[in-house]
Amino acid sequence: MSAPTDVKYANIINGERVGSDATAPVYNPATGQVIADVPVASPEDLDRAVEAARAAFPAWSARPIAERQAIVSAIGDRLEEHAEEFMALLTSEQGKPRAMAEWEVYGSIAWFREIAKQELPEEVLEDTPERKVMSRHTPLGVVGAIVPWNFPILLAVWKIAPALVSGCTIIVKPSPFTPLCDLRLTEIVQDLVPAGVFSALSGDDELGKWMTSHPGIAKIAFTGSTETGRHVMASAAHTLKRVTLELGGNDPAIVLPDVDPKKVAPQIFWAAFQNNAQFCNAAKRVYIHDDVYDAVRDELVEYAKTVVVGDGANADTQLGPIQNKPQLEKVTEYFDDCKANGYTFALGGEIDNEAEGWFVPVTLVDNPPEKSRLVAEEPFGPILPLLKWNDEADVIARANDTVWGLGATVWGDDLEAVERIGRQIEAGTVWLNEVHQYSPHQVFGGHKQSGIGAENSLHGLAEYTNHQTVCLNRVEGTVA
Ligand code: NAD
Repeated sequence: MSAPTDVKYANIINGERVGSDATAPVYNPATGQVIADVPVASPEDLDRAVEAARAAFPAWSARPIAERQAIVSAIGDRLEEHAEEFMALLTSEQGKPRAMAEWEVYGSIAWFREIAKQELPEEVLEDTPERKVMSRHTPLGVVGAIVPWNFPILLAVWKIAPALVSGCTIIVKPSPFTPLCDLRLTEIVQDLVPAGVFSALSGDDELGKWMTSHPGIAKIAFTGSTETGRHVMASAAHTLKRVTLELGGNDPAIVLPDVDPKKVAPQIFWAAFQNNAQFCNAAKRVYIHDDVYDAVRDELVEYAKTVVVGDGANADTQLGPIQNKPQLEKVTEYFDDCKANGYTFALGGEIDNEAEGWFVPVTLVDNPPEKSRLVAEEPFGPILPLLKWNDEADVIARANDTVWGLGATVWGDDLEAVERIGRQIEAGTVWLNEVHQYSPHQVFGGHKQSGIGAENSLHGLAEYTNHQTVCLNRVEGTVA
């Protein structure tokens, strides 16, 4: 089944489809063509969604957790029934090819089902004839979920599933660049949840600001750039909202001298270029030991030449376009900066401005300076710096010399050395001889300015709850 072309996308408020006076176009980044129009929510729309979510909260949070878990699992089943439609829609609004769309849609289904098995147990800390002390988790209330454009479904699900299991109600705001899948997902599951429990509002960045300052919202679950994360936190501070912030990264990959260049090159390639490098956890700086630098670089170049870039709707495409025009302009700046400074391109470097759609070529930059923009910043596009190292302490220091700390990878045959280096990297997830392995039961979050708090695992679930201590004095005659 392909994406339906006749769907009219609507906000979902209190279980109902709601349009808006203002609309915005959504583009297919592979063609630059408009594929749909979506509502642009107003402050009044947000007020109504918050009111409905607050009204639904007491009954939803009072339901036995087993019922909420069953509903969350059923949402996963519903998504699976529509999997083909969602994969096609994801490719057309986000640009990612089929294999990545499959990874994201089936990953989202698995997340609903696995998070639905999670529960935060109530602990009994003291239990004597005189006294009982209990520690429990209570849901926070209404959650505002703010989602980016690189994984529009999965990163929404990372918020929707734990919010609903914990007993919170939720309003999802997709990125204005990729609202279709999230609006559609919210719509197709409304018969599974009571009205107001799970709403979605499409809008621009202003809607995000209204959400972070809204007094009726208890928590913001945010994934996006570090810069926006700072605004979210500042705005949420006025109402002391809880925040979970999953932000940007500048993940180092460290390649040891004992690798087989031919074997490691494809793995480094996909560590960096998966999802066309529009990946928070993409390897964004590759430190290759001097002894194998030339060989690994050359193998990377050879492998990269075999990778098919194009419209994700074509069966042989492996890498799609840049997702949106502003991002294309941002990525172009890094190409220009490399050229202006005379850095050497091992591959790529020339953007075809006449191309239909928003494409840039896979580009490898040969040993640019450590302080170059390309190394020090997060381009979030398929241009990758390759760097040399020869001293272990020095490469660790360089890997850690950044405000970010989201992820890292280390590659080598000497597992002791690989683990020794990996353990010294300041990052939320360190992958050793693998990358991009996530699990609903594996905690995920950033160190330093890559984020605050965590998603997934019971630690992530707990972020949708308050701690509550209940103390019961049982001594007879105390009060009567
Ligand atoms: P972005 O920060 O521009 O936008 C993210 C969301 O925030 C969008 O829905 C946007 O409309 C909204 N927004 C914008 N301004 C806002 C404001 N002032 N207040 C509230 N909401 C606002 O990010 P993006 O360009 O969509 O995504 C790319 C970034 O996300 C990269 O930096 C990437 O590393 C990061 N990211 C992080 C993770 C993670 O889990 N750590 C995952 C994916 C992406």
